[in-house]
Amino acid sequence: MEQFDFVVLGGGISGLGFAKRVSEHGFSVLILEKEDIVGGLSRSLNHNGFYLDFCAHRFHTNNKELLKEVLSLPDLKMEKHIKKSRIYMFGKWLKYPFEIQNLLRAMPIHQSFLSGISFATNQITKKFRKTKDNQSYKDWFIHIYGKRLYDVMCYPYTSKIWHHDPGEISADWADQRFQGENMIKLVKRIIKKVLTLDFSSYNLDDDSLAPDGGPFYYPIYGIQELADSLKKASEQKGTIIKCSSNIKSIDTKNKTVVYTNDGVEHTAKYNDLISTIPLHTLYKLENKHDEAVEKALNNISYMDIIFVFAFLNIPRVSNDHWLYFPDKDIIFNRSVEFSNWSPKMCPEGKTSICFDITTFKNDKEWQMTDEELIKRTIDDAVRTGYIKRENVEDTLVTRIEYAYPYYDLEYKSKLDVIVRGLEQDNVHLLGRTGIFKYNNSDNSIEMGFELAEKFVNKDENKSIYNYKIKNVSY
Ligand SMILES: Cc1cc2nc3c(=O)[nH]c(=O)nc-3n(C[C@H](O)[C@H](O)[C@H](O)COP(=O)(O)OP(=O)(O)OC[C@H]3O[C@@H](n4cnc5c(N)ncnc54)[C@H](O)[C@@H]3O)c2cc1C
Repeated sequence: MEQFDFVVLGGGISGLGFAKRVSEHGFSVLILEKEDIVGGLSRSLNHNGFYLDFCAHRFHTNNKELLKEVLSLPDLKMEKHIKKSRIYMFGKWLKYPFEIQNLLRAMPIHQSFLSGISFATNQITKKFRKTKDNQSYKDWFIHIYGKRLYDVMCYPYTSKIWHHDPGEISADWADQRFQGENMIKLVKRIIKKVLTLDFSSYNLDDDSLAPDGGPFYYPIYGIQELADSLKKASEQKGTIIKCSSNIKSIDTKNKTVVYTNDGVEHTAKYNDLISTIPLHTLYKLENKHDEAVEKALNNISYMDIIFVFAFLNIPRVSNDHWLYFPDKDIIFNRSVEFSNWSPKMCPEGKTSICFDITTFKNDKEWQMTDEELIKRTIDDAVRTGYIKRENVEDTLVTRIEYAYPYYDLEYKSKLDVIVRGLEQDNVHLLGRTGIFKYNNSDNSIEMGFELAEKFVNKDENKSIYNYKIKNVSY
């Protein structure tokens, strides 16, 4: 029987971050990953010479120490970028993040007038309202921007991504997503822009882009390089990583994990088990029966995602990193053009685009065949004027389960029960998927480090459940 201080389930970046830190302090670690490479959601594919992320993963953080540590990982070279993105609304390409002046000018005149008044009134009345009354994302958004702008800026895109009305989504989602953004600064910036004349065109060829998208880092050949360098740093300190592992069962009383790798069955004994895999999967593998946990798990869900990749025989379509599509008649939510992230991502003279479609398994998008998804995606992209059909040489469809923790209004009370039920007998939950925390990659690594440091410092309370996301931006 193999014996380790820690067995980590899942080789995403939270598990890798944890392994790096504890192995630096002399602990022994085994990581079991089901895919044939590490990285989880932050991994990349290579398709006929094109490097592809799932959507695309920019690395950005306000944590200076974390940034320094990431930038000094072995063999990792990341370039600094300024985020460029636009949003397709009213048949025009608008700046994104929104600039109110740019948005108001693009709207039909009466809508623009009413939205302007609503926004201004809201700025005044907001001071007299209590933020604790904001239960849902809808409440939260209206509190800040007013009802009219909610109808334009929030409802279409949010309801399209989540397949739910923003009134049914917890305000925690907004808090986690926008916490890093200083709201006063944001509102001041918006007001300043209202007073500044904006003559930018709404043409996709116009390069005057959202000026405040913020800096981020990105490797040369896709985000896989970040995961690979965390893997390398952990392995240098003795961590064993077994990809293509099939976990068969977990015995939390005897502290063992049974798994197969390369057709051979193994049993690994641990002192502590770190789980970064979906909550539902962990519960099944433990084969326990806890009615309260089971009930809560049945009522909490992750959202899945489909990526339609298009490969084009031209060097570039636009200059943007991201384009957003809130219109519900367009099947995809966002697009990412990889040659703008790094020219090495595409063979010379060619470019590639990832279109993402969020969906739950019972929804019609998940039921569509790959051919149907490709046809709808390309038709919609051509209709907006984004791409030309004759430039599309090849396509690829990939489906990813458990991509987004979905926060309904009661998610927190259900999650409390699940975490309490699962974090027993030296089992510790970690990461975006493992602890149902809507976060970015920097937060996942940070969480991994924080949990590791609890072991290094022999903290009594090991749980990372109350980890506060410090900096998520949009
Ligand atoms: C579409 C999309 C775009 C994103 N864009 C950005 C971005 O631009 N910037 C950013 O910072 N963040 C972004 N993120 C978030 C980022 O991907 C995550 O925060 C981060 O990758 C999560 O890492 P993790 O280790 O916590 O979870 P995961 O990556 O989910 O890791 C879990 C691991 O467990 C493995 N696993 C699952 N089941 C089993 C099993 N039964 N046995 C063994 N292994 C198993 C999985 O394969 C995976 O490797 C994005 C996420 C998505 C979905």
